[in-house]
Amino acid sequence: MSDICNHILGFPRIGSQRELKKATEAYWKNEITELELKKIGKKIREENWKIQSEAGLDFITVGDFSFYDQVLDTSLLFGNVPDRFLEKGSEANFDTLFCMARGHAPNNINARACEMTKWFNTNYHYIVPEFKQGQKFKISLNSLLEQIEHASSFGYKIKPVLIGPLTYLWLGKASENDFNKLDLLNNLIEEYTKIFNLLSLKNIEWIQVDEPILTLDLSPEWKEAFYNVYTKFDFKNLKILLTTYFGSIQDNIDIVNKIPIHGLHLDLCSNPEQINEVIKNYPKNKVLSLGLINGRNIWKSNITKITDTICKIKQKFSGELWLSSSCSLMHSPVDLDQEKNLDPEIKNWLAFAKQKVLEIKLCSNIINSKDTKQSELLLNENAQAIESRKNSKRVHNEAVKKRVSEINKKDGDRKNPYSIRALKQKETLKLPLFPTTTIGSFPQTQKIRNVRNNYKNKKISKEDYTKEIQNHILESIRKQEELNIDVLVHGEAERNDMVEYFGELLEGFVFTSNGWVQSYGTRCVKPPIIFGDISRPASMTIDWIKYSQSLTQKHVKGMLTGPVTILSWSFVRDDQLPKETALQIALALRDEVIDLEKADVKIIQIDEPAFREALPLKKSEWQEYLTWAVNCFRISAAGVQDSTQIHTHMCYSEFNDIIKSIADLDADVITIECSRSNMELLQAFENFAYPNDIGPGVYDIHSPQIPSKKEIKELLENALKYIPAERLWVNPDCGLKTRNWPEVEIALKNMTEAAFDLRKQY
Ligand code: GLN
Ligand code: ZN
Repeated sequence: MSDICNHILGFPRIGSQRELKKATEAYWKNEITELELKKIGKKIREENWKIQSEAGLDFITVGDFSFYDQVLDTSLLFGNVPDRFLEKGSEANFDTLFCMARGHAPNNINARACEMTKWFNTNYHYIVPEFKQGQKFKISLNSLLEQIEHASSFGYKIKPVLIGPLTYLWLGKASENDFNKLDLLNNLIEEYTKIFNLLSLKNIEWIQVDEPILTLDLSPEWKEAFYNVYTKFDFKNLKILLTTYFGSIQDNIDIVNKIPIHGLHLDLCSNPEQINEVIKNYPKNKVLSLGLINGRNIWKSNITKITDTICKIKQKFSGELWLSSSCSLMHSPVDLDQEKNLDPEIKNWLAFAKQKVLEIKLCSNIINSKDTKQSELLLNENAQAIESRKNSKRVHNEAVKKRVSEINKKDGDRKNPYSIRALKQKETLKLPLFPTTTIGSFPQTQKIRNVRNNYKNKKISKEDYTKEIQNHILESIRKQEELNIDVLVHGEAERNDMVEYFGELLEGFVFTSNGWVQSYGTRCVKPPIIFGDISRPASMTIDWIKYSQSLTQKHVKGMLTGPVTILSWSFVRDDQLPKETALQIALALRDEVIDLEKADVKIIQIDEPAFREALPLKKSEWQEYLTWAVNCFRISAAGVQDSTQIHTHMCYSEFNDIIKSIADLDADVITIECSRSNMELLQAFENFAYPNDIGPGVYDIHSPQIPSKKEIKELLENALKYIPAERLWVNPDCGLKTRNWPEVEIALKNMTEAAFDLRKQY
C-alpha cells in the first residue's frame, strides 16, 4: 500500500512579524517603492515554502500568497477589472489591485472601491468581484505564474492553488441589472483552460482547485453548472484536487461523484461525519485528502486521535489517502515560537500555522512508519500536552460548570413583558420623544492610545492612568451635554478593543503578543484565546460608569460586549461546545449587568455586532444556533428590574430572515446600522410587527462625509414610515472611534437638532 502523502491548503502570508502589513502600508505612503514591496512579498513566500519543505511535506503549496486578497487576485488574473479603475485604453497594473480594494493607490486613479465581505463563516474578508452582463474574461496580471516560476527556481515539487470557477462566480455580485452570473461561465472556463494549459507546460502534476461553495446549500442550477464545467474542462495532463472546506459536502456529493476530478479534499474538522457518507461511493482510483489538522484554531492536534482516524478510514477506503490542514492555515496565527511571554503551561497546548505543518508531517510519519524513533518521541510529547490540558485545574472550574448546569429557562426572562417594562422605564428615565444617543465609543485619539500603551508598558502608574482616562471621560461627557444628547456614554477610552477589554478582565482567557490573523488587506486581528472555564473575578466596568454618571444629571449608558460577540471574535475551546462557553460568558455578563444596576445605572447596552455573522453556513443549522445565541443574550440581560432599560446594538445586518430571533432577544432598545440602506432595513421590523424600541443609524460612521440636519431629518422621516414615533431612537450607525472629533461634533449637532425639530412636529 502506498504511503500517505501530505500537504497544506495554504499558509498565512502576513509574515511572522506582520512584515507584509508594514511594507504594504509603507508603500501606500510612498515610503518604499513597488520593487521594495515586491521583494518583501518574495521573502515571505520563500520563508513559507521553506517551512513546508523543511518539515518534509510532499508538496509545496504555491499561489496562496497575495498582496491583499486571493479573490481580488483571481479577479485580476482573469482581467475582471471594473472600468472605473482603468484609464481609457490602459491595462491593469500592480496598483490596480490596491485601487480596487481601497479606492486609491500611489500610482492610480481614484475610484469607488469594490465592496468587501466575509469569507464564508470566517473573520477574513474578501473583495467582492463585480460582474457585468455579457462581460468577457481575459487572462491578465498573472501573479500565479510569477509565484510558480519563483518556487520552481528552488526545485520544489509544487502544487499551485486556484479558486475554482464556480466559487469565483458565486462570490461576486452581478452589477446593474440582475442577470444570471452563470451566463458568464462558458467564457470564464475558456480562460481557466488557458491557465491549465500554461500550468501543464510547467512540469506540474497536481493543482488544487478550491470550490468551498460545495459545502453550501446549492440550487439544482448551480449543481448542474458544476457538472457541466468539470466534465467540459480539458485538464491536459494535470491532476485536479478539488478542495472543499468549512463544512460538509454531503448534500452535494452526488455531483462530486459524477465529475472527472482526480482527488477530493474534505474538511474533517468542521464536519468529521461526512467521511462516512463520502466514502460509500467514492471511486478507489481517486485521491481522498483528509483535512484533519484544524486550520482555524490554535490548539495542538491530538496526534493519536488523528492517526487512529486515518487508520479507520484506511480500513474502509483502499484508495490513495492524503493528509492536510482542514482549510488554508491563513486563519491561524503564523508561529508560536515567536510568543515569548505566553504562560508556558498554556503555550504547551497550542500550535500555530508553522507548528501545524509539523503536526501534519508527524501524523504521516507515524502512519507511514517513517522516522519511528523520532516520531515516537514527538508523539509522546504530544500526548503529554494533550493530557495536561485535559486535566488542568486552570481549564476546569467546578463552580462555573455547576452554575451553568443550574441555569433554568426562567433565568432568561425579564420580570414582565416589554409593554409593562416600557411604562416603568418611561416613568424612571423621563426621556423625550425621539431620544438621542450614541453607540459607545468616541474618537480614539493618539493621546488616548498613548495613555493605554504607557499603562500597559508600566510607564505610568495606575493612579495616573485612571486620572488620564477620567479626564477623557469628563471631556466627552461635557461635549455630549453641549451637544444636547439625551442618553450619554462614557466613550470607551479605556478599551483598545471591545472583546479584548473584557477578555483581559475575565478568567479563562489568554492573550498572545504576536498571534495575528489577517482580517482584510493589511488589517490583522489578534483574537484572544479562550482556554478555560470563564468567570468574572471582579466587576469590569462599574468604576468607569459610576464616575461618568457622577459628572452629569443625564443618564449614562453602561456598555458591555455580548456573549455571542465575545465568543465569535475569540479562538474558542475545542473541548466543549461553543454554546457551553457562551453560557459561561453570559453568566459573567449577567453579574456585571446586575452590578451596574446596583450602581444606579439605569440604561445598559449589550453589544452584539457578531450576532448575525455567526450564523452557520447552512440554513438547516440556523435554528439550533439562533436558539442558543438568543438564550445567552437573554441570560446576560434578564437579571434586572423592569425599570432598567436594556439596549443592544448590531452593525449592518440583513434582519429579514432572523427577525423573530431579534425580537426574541427582548432588548428594550436595539440600535442598528441603517443609514446606507436608506432605512429600508426597517421593512423587516415593520413586517414582523417588531414590538420594542429601535434606533436606526442616521450617520454613516464609515465615511468621512458629515450628514446635514436635512439629510438626517429625511432619514428619520423615512424611518417613521416603518416605526411609530414613540418607539424611534436617534443615533449614529455604530461607534465613533474611527472618526475625529471635529467631524463627530458637527454630525452629532446636526443629529440632535434634527431630533429636536422632529419633536416639534409630533
Ligand atoms: N460599543 C461599541 C463601539 O461603539 C460597538 C462597536 C461595534 O458595534 N462594532 O465602539
Ligand atoms: Zn456597530
